[in-house]
Amino acid sequence: MARITGKVCKLCRREGMKLFLKGQRCFSEKCGINRRDYPPGMHTRPRKTTDYYVQLREKQKAKRIYGVLERQFQRYFETARRQRGNTGENLLVLMERRLDNVVLSMGLSLSRFDARQMIAHGHVFVNGNRMDIPSYLVKPGDEVSITSREKLRKKAQEAVEINKGQAVPAWLEVFPTDLKGRIVTLPKREDVPHPINEQLIVELCSR
Ligand code: SF4
Repeated sequence: MARITGKVCKLCRREGMKLFLKGQRCFSEKCGINRRDYPPGMHTRPRKTTDYYVQLREKQKAKRIYGVLERQFQRYFETARRQRGNTGENLLVLMERRLDNVVLSMGLSLSRFDARQMIAHGHVFVNGNRMDIPSYLVKPGDEVSITSREKLRKKAQEAVEINKGQAVPAWLEVFPTDLKGRIVTLPKREDVPHPINEQLIVELCSR
């Protein structure tokens, strides 16, 4: 069981914003930031508020939330720009489709870090095949499941139990008792649960 401290997690404290790294806990009263009237650290330092600063903060927030480094983020942006439709929305949808995000959204792990570890160590399967790339982009019809190894299944079961009651995004279907789920359709902008202003990111990256 995860230890609930009610404190603000280290990375969120450092960045001074909610980064949604701990799954369901981030949306509950257990998140330390929800208990404050101000973001952690914000009361100690004056902040610059130039357009560039605001745009940069938004991009940093998106990168932190999805655990994406700069080079990969740029690749997502280029892909999003080449796709039809709104570039900002395309960008968020691409990151939502990452396998580590899907495992977390299905409630099969307690944090994005855990999801990434499970995948990197070969404990997650897509359509019955081991998939050890956390950035794998799922597509409609994909079935995501957990290894048959007892110890890992127990860990995933604990996560499912703790995440019980978590709203599962409409684009995913979850079978908690089987520790698996299915991609029903591609996510839409409204399926992204994080408060990211993608337009600010597009403005920054289009400079
Ligand atoms: Fe921790 Fe999530 Fe709250 Fe950040 S948003 S402080 S990761 S519970």
